[in-house]
Amino acid sequence: MTIDRPTKIPLVDLKAQYATIRDEVRAAIDAVLDDAAFIGGPYLERFEAEFAAFSGVKYVVGVSNGTDALRLALLACGIRAGNEVITVPNTFIATAEAVSMLGAKVRFVDVDPKRLTLDPARLAEACTPATKAVIPVHLYGHPAEMDPIMEIARQRGLRVIGDAAQAHGAQYRGHPIAVLGDAVCFSFYPGKNLGACGDAGAVATNDAAVAERVRMLRDHGRTRKYEHAFEGFNCRMDGLQAAVLSVKLKHLPGWNVARRRLAAEYDAALGELPGLRLPIAYADSTPVQHLYAIQVESRDDLARALASEGIQTGIHYPIPLHLQPAYSHLGAARGSFPVAERHASRTLSLPLFPEMTDDDVRRVGDAMRRSRDARVLRTA
Ligand SMILES: *Cc1c(COP(=O)(O)O)cnc(C)c1O
Repeated sequence: MTIDRPTKIPLVDLKAQYATIRDEVRAAIDAVLDDAAFIGGPYLERFEAEFAAFSGVKYVVGVSNGTDALRLALLACGIRAGNEVITVPNTFIATAEAVSMLGAKVRFVDVDPKRLTLDPARLAEACTPATKAVIPVHLYGHPAEMDPIMEIARQRGLRVIGDAAQAHGAQYRGHPIAVLGDAVCFSFYPGKNLGACGDAGAVATNDAAVAERVRMLRDHGRTRKYEHAFEGFNCRMDGLQAAVLSVKLKHLPGWNVARRRLAAEYDAALGELPGLRLPIAYADSTPVQHLYAIQVESRDDLARALASEGIQTGIHYPIPLHLQPAYSHLGAARGSFPVAERHASRTLSLPLFPEMTDDDVRRVGDAMRRSRDARVLRTA
């Protein structure tokens, strides 16, 4: 007799997703190859129009990745070397890198302890005469508190560049996330809610001038062939990625619904366990649950206990940016941003992907209950 070993539950499963759309994706790739439409071209234009319609904005400009989307959006909004740009420390490094790459200065502001996104009160306090822009990050697919952020930005004349790399399709007070700012940036890194078969990104905006500027910046400042109005970059999106994204965009609403439903299953399965802080979904928002990140005191012990049962977890992110060696020159000591620091030491992302089953969620819940019984989970 063989013992029935349950299969592993990965944090994300891109192979499971591909299995559901294999034929569509391969047909789309074949079409691009047959047309030799490799850079820009009709597949890109089609995806840009489709993603604009999905996102509720007038313009979408496809670019090479989410980091470049942020960089080009900042430039198109007039941010230059020497300007100061405010963002949060509990994000992926790309958010801050995009600022430094321009020679602008990153200024970190702590997050709201409940939402884990930019704290509007602290934003107001942190502004200086050099502050020209703010980048709210819609972490894990949960919108930042945009009404007060937009109000402060309006009063101080700041440009708002949204980092929606984890929030394709999220809404805040009935507004699509893509309209909340002068420009809103998306990543289509494979593991994102909408992911390419490689790197890709986009800038969404209702501002025709910003859209045109990004369109030129991504392609050497080109006005027409071999005529360049200014120096730009090579930050173009591949036709292959655009064609794949068009296929996947059709499935995105359903995938986001599945993520929301699985998050609710987790809420129910974990609700009565001690010492856990579950993600909060606010009534003013429709999140898109890129990650299901809990907070727990004995985070590393719990991750190990789950790993021993074949359950993979992740940490987003273990080191807040102000404590990264890359930002040591900013001189922010431990304790500078206590909310982000506490979050980094306690956050744990549980498996979540649209193809996951309710049974998978139950298995994670059961493993967590065994952790409680083994006293890995403690009431802090
Ligand atoms: C993924 C991500 C980015 C960067 O996107 P890339 O496409 O990998 O360059 C930026 N910000 C956040 C919050 C992200 O999660």
